[in-house]
Amino acid sequence: MTTTQSTNTIQNLNPSTGELLAELPCATSEEVRDAVARARAAQPAWEALGMEERCRMLSGIADGLAERADELARLATQEMGKLYEDAKREVQGFTSMVKTELEEVQEALATQTFKTKGNETQLVRMPHGVVAAITPWNFPVGMPLQILGPALAAGNTVVFKPSEHVPLTGQAIAEIVQACVPEDVLVLVHGAGETGAELVAADIDMVGFVGSRETGKRIMESASKELKRLVLELGGKDPLVVFADSDLDAAAECAVRHSLRNTGQVCCAVERVYVEESAATEFEEKVAALAADWRHGDGFEEGSKMGPLVSEEQRAKVVTQVDAAISDGARLVMGGSCPDGPGWYYPATVLADVAADQRITHEETFGPVVSLSTFDGSEEEAVRLANDTPYGLGANVYSGDTERGARVAARMQAGQVGINQYLGGAPGTPWVGARQSGFGFLGGMEGHRQFTWPKSISKSV
Ligand code: NAD
Repeated sequence: MTTTQSTNTIQNLNPSTGELLAELPCATSEEVRDAVARARAAQPAWEALGMEERCRMLSGIADGLAERADELARLATQEMGKLYEDAKREVQGFTSMVKTELEEVQEALATQTFKTKGNETQLVRMPHGVVAAITPWNFPVGMPLQILGPALAAGNTVVFKPSEHVPLTGQAIAEIVQACVPEDVLVLVHGAGETGAELVAADIDMVGFVGSRETGKRIMESASKELKRLVLELGGKDPLVVFADSDLDAAAECAVRHSLRNTGQVCCAVERVYVEESAATEFEEKVAALAADWRHGDGFEEGSKMGPLVSEEQRAKVVTQVDAAISDGARLVMGGSCPDGPGWYYPATVLADVAADQRITHEETFGPVVSLSTFDGSEEEAVRLANDTPYGLGANVYSGDTERGARVAARMQAGQVGINQYLGGAPGTPWVGARQSGFGFLGGMEGHRQFTWPKSISKSV
């Protein structure tokens, strides 16, 4: 496994080679409590600085990211295996967002005034206090930043626990933010699930979490004891519906790219493809031709299109799902077996004739698998199959009839839907996990407001 948590250390292994990158001590229970106490002590002065000054300080994050861009990208590749070019793009993308996001937070949290005859009410947005930021490994730069920036700008202080799979990337992010703010406004703790659980149970006011549905449920259970505020961004099982009259080349490109990108380890990856029966053979051929090009290899190597999976457990989970699908009647079109040699690689895999009752149709795979099923071509069946999941993160539909595409999109129970394109809202829209893909959301005006509570102050006029 890439990373293990014994009682007191995490071993950070390179998933491309299995070599030990670092062994880091996990925060003890006392250290977690101390981290929270320090963040709590620092919070009133941080809040008192006011929004404008806080945002001025936080804007320095962009400079810190730019200065350490190459180091961050290299760390991400070494720690979780993603392509170095993708890691660079992730750093650049989030660097360029810092300024606009801070402007957006200021706009979202600005005091609003409401008037009636004889009364004036101000609606002010108050920080919760201390936020626990707990993040995953698959976008090791972006996921922490989408919580840290808005949470801090709103006047909260933060205790940040990065994923145990990417502790060094997390530490570099923490250092960049810490260089911009007063002491203890951001406190870092290292550790795996046990440390995360202790942090949630500690004297914090809110949890900003990105990770799996299973962990999200545990956090909600623990946080319920003191009704701590939550934003949970969780996993997905996104469908792609392809009608026979759609641009099949574009739909196949969407299916392959978004099933295999980041070795399939993307929350809003395409995990289920439903193709209208009459186009199934042609579509499968197009998918297989495109997927053949997705060579796996070390993230630093030119020509690699996918790195390894993050850990031995993650690969074992993918192997189990694919093997079970095949023994339950799915047809292996390509891939499907682990290569020899070091590293937790798994090839681009295409399955066809995947049935509705199979495990791979319902559990998040988080691996490089294009899973093809068919439907009878009716809107009713397309919608029923797409919604046949407790998840609701993203969904995609391709149709030559744009009105039909829009009708199906309207009925898909997902926070983000793409019509004849891969999902993804314009800047300013929140990142929404509907149903069991989330609770609360991040980004956009509505997301930023979740790091505050609204308070109305009224007076006679
Ligand atoms: P995970 O749930 O295993 O871990 C996420 C974080 O939670 C880690 O820091 C981990 O140490 C911590 N943790 C584990 N158990 C905990 C507990 N009991 N209490 C508190 N913290 C705990 O998820 P992962 O494997 O790191 O990430 C992959 C998952 O994240 C996938 O399900 C993916 O879909 C999801 N994800 C969602 C989004 C989104 O925006 N919706 C984005 C990226 C990843």
